[in-house]
Amino acid sequence: MRARTFEGREIELKQDTFDGLKMRLRGQLFQSGEVGYEESRTVWNAMIDRKPAVVARCLGIADVIACVKFARENDILLCIKGGGHNIAGLATADGALMLDMSLMRGVWVDPLRKVAHAQAGCLLGDVDRETQVHGLAAVLGFVSLTGIAGLTLGGGFGYLTRRWGWTSDNVVGMDVVTADARLVRASSGENADLFWGLLGGGGNFGVVTGIDYMLHPVGPEVVGGVVAWPASEARKVLELYRTLAEKAPPELTLVALMRPAPPAPWLPKEMHGKPIVALLACYNGIPEEGEKAVAPIKSFGKPIGDVLARRPYAQLQSLLDATQPKGRRYYWKSEYLPRIEPALCEKVIEHAAKIRSPHSAVILFQIAGALNQLGEDHSPVGNRDARYVLNAAGSWEQPGEDRANVEWARAAWNDMKSFSTGGTYINFLTEDEGPERIEAALGRGLARLAKVKAKWDPQNVFRTNRNIKPA
Ligand SMILES: Cc1cc2nc3c(=O)[nH]c(=O)nc-3n(C[C@H](O)[C@H](O)[C@H](O)COP(=O)(O)OP(=O)(O)OC[C@H]3O[C@@H](n4cnc5c(N)ncnc54)[C@H](O)[C@@H]3O)c2cc1C
Repeated sequence: MRARTFEGREIELKQDTFDGLKMRLRGQLFQSGEVGYEESRTVWNAMIDRKPAVVARCLGIADVIACVKFARENDILLCIKGGGHNIAGLATADGALMLDMSLMRGVWVDPLRKVAHAQAGCLLGDVDRETQVHGLAAVLGFVSLTGIAGLTLGGGFGYLTRRWGWTSDNVVGMDVVTADARLVRASSGENADLFWGLLGGGGNFGVVTGIDYMLHPVGPEVVGGVVAWPASEARKVLELYRTLAEKAPPELTLVALMRPAPPAPWLPKEMHGKPIVALLACYNGIPEEGEKAVAPIKSFGKPIGDVLARRPYAQLQSLLDATQPKGRRYYWKSEYLPRIEPALCEKVIEHAAKIRSPHSAVILFQIAGALNQLGEDHSPVGNRDARYVLNAAGSWEQPGEDRANVEWARAAWNDMKSFSTGGTYINFLTEDEGPERIEAALGRGLARLAKVKAKWDPQNVFRTNRNIKPA
């Protein structure tokens, strides 16, 4: 079979060599045409269509070590797949040996220490499910099918960010297989330089096999959900969002979005496909106080749908899953914002009205709070001045619609980027975003990251990522 070297040269990978790796693994190994290959090689974003030479579904750390050794001995490019949700498709590469971590989904919770150890193939929902048994939660994202590894290694934010910071601010340690195929521990007390790099520097330094998260008391019941109005109410609803968000306590996180109404059962049939404005909320403190905090939303105007209520936290975490299925085509343009200005709200309304697909949205996530209180150098994720995330999120079905939808997202972003802090989220960058966007995401940390890279991966073995060249 054809494979690629680290430098991108095409080579022939002999069947004997392939079989040799199979013998070294407890997990599965397959090539094109074999059952499982397609499922592994495809990622969330159908715009990405790459074909690794072989896929190893690792079953444990020993398998990961065997794969890293094999790749180095045979000069075969490596790629690592967590949840496969990266929009730029960083998990997959043509001709590579793919380490698919999807069989490594164990979660162990220590409720006394309030720490969870999660294997790196976990999806967010795996961690929420196990931690919620104890009324605890890690700071993770909004869609339960996203992989924890890519999210955490790029920073990570969700409903708990306002109280406890970026996901990576809440990591206490990681287990990592390094470029020389050694298992090491990274924490503030062990290999602290590596640990720092992993808290935002992506998969540049090794294969993370497990992550230890600091947990916080959350739920199991929170006040959360969504209220929607017709887009004709957008000006008033976005003004409500702006004013409520500015004075919201850290327990309350608000997200505003505009999009064509999805065919959700809680929305009237006649509104499906029609433009709406919606507010998502999660209050992760005492439910009675949460009900008071969201009352101005529930009583505002005449909503066409309202499912903002007490519910299990783990259920809230999967509320958006159906709107983001694997296999659609996606293109995002995103910025961090220091505040929501009325002029920005006007732009949101204007560009939402130009959406070209029933699945696209303009979204404003509120993240202000704990993350703003740490120093810029605390971790490479930086962006400690970010208070909101803006995302023009294009999503559609057919390749023939690519151009119109990509152009929509770019135009929306172009027109709104002047409201930015100047920073952007590394995990929301699409395939075509180059060095200046990585600079915008990691700017101040890049030089230090290059030094960490030089120490831990001088030959740039881990390069199928937002690559940091060794200093
Ligand atoms: C529907 C959807 C919702 C999202 N919501 C949020 C959100 O609420 N908050 C948020 O912060 N982000 C969110 N994101 C962005 C998300 O953080 C990134 O897409 C992230 O890359 C997903 O992680 P993954 O493991 O699924 O990625 P993958 O695509 O599997 O991998 C991404 C990168 O991480 C590297 N990597 C993966 N696993 C490992 C490992 N074990 N060791 C070393 N490197 C590894 C890969 O090599 C690759 O370079 C969302 C994305 C999607 C598609």
